[in-house]
Amino acid sequence: MKKVLKSAEPKELQQYRQRFSFQVKRWSDLKSNRATFNAIRITLAADQKGLCAYCEMSLHDKNRSVDHFIPRNQSTPEKNHDLDWQNMLAICLPPGGVKDDDLQNSQQLPHNSPCCGKKKDDFIPDGRLLNPLELPKLRLFKFSSKDGEIRPDEMACIEANISV
Ligand SMILES: [Zn+2]
Repeated sequence: MKKVLKSAEPKELQQYRQRFSFQVKRWSDLKSNRATFNAIRITLAADQKGLCAYCEMSLHDKNRSVDHFIPRNQSTPEKNHDLDWQNMLAICLPPGGVKDDDLQNSQQLPHNSPCCGKKKDDFIPDGRLLNPLELPKLRLFKFSSKDGEIRPDEMACIEANISV
């Protein structure tokens, strides 16, 4: 996982929110606005150099989706995580398995699906899931040249306030 440096919110998303500022619009509403949805996808892909925010798999038309780091089911009228640009990440879906355009919600993906687009259910991201927007500068893993294993660097994790 690499730190994602987000560019400014696409103007299409900003305009969409302004246009519907007196209504609560969900992600499913936004997806039907193709110009806004495409602007989001293009900007996310550019910001992430065409890679999944979590596993760094290359993204293309048939394996990409938009993840909301804080699950959409946590949205409230006061805080709409669905339309929050800082909450959106481009992620992978199973290659050739399902097209994002056809995906109404991630419930259609089985839990053991080999991709980063699995449903989070009621899991609220905490210290166990690193946010690619907030990765510390420290290197959090150590590579062992003896056995080839990659392990958490406990000292770096403690310094970065990440529990191991
Ligand atoms: Zn992925």
